Amino acid sequence: MELTKDIIAAHVDKNDMAIITCPDCGLIKKVSVSQFKNSKHQVSSRCQCGKRFTIQLNFRSSYRKNVNLAGTYMVMSPKKSHWCDMTVRDISRTGIGFKNLDSVAVAAGNSLRLKFNLDNAKKTTIDKNVIVKIIKDQYVGCEFVDLAREEKDLGFYLLS
Ligand SMILES: [Zn+2]
Repeated sequence: MELTKDIIAAHVDKNDMAIITCPDCGLIKKVSVSQFKNSKHQVSSRCQCGKRFTIQLNFRSSYRKNVNLAGTYMVMSPKKSHWCDMTVRDISRTGIGFKNLDSVAVAAGNSLRLKFNLDNAKKTTIDKNVIVKIIKDQYVGCEFVDLAREEKDLGFYLLS
């Protein structure tokens, strides 16, 4: 085991290419990281100079974390509903997908309010307004209307 291990952040562009700069010698490499897109976001690397380091891949909004979190939602418009049960299935920086456990009809374009807690140490409460983008059977894919106070916790959560 190495005693010191540098962690460097690498931005991933829309073609799943990451620019990696060796923290020791400064050598720059451009590598495809598409194979890690939906799984790992930390990968070990070794430079030509012998330096070992860990790359923190930042997939930004494209990365969706698969989760299984109980929560509730309420349709706000066009017609207000009661609070309904749901299971959050995936989260990204820009939206959320959940399984609808209620018989309330949800359609694309509807405005919803979602409430649930992340399973991080702080149990961060996520309380967000979203717009429904896609419906597939019981799955409801939504986009956040805005990201504000939870953004930092959510960012860390997505990278954990
Ligand atoms: Zn190097």
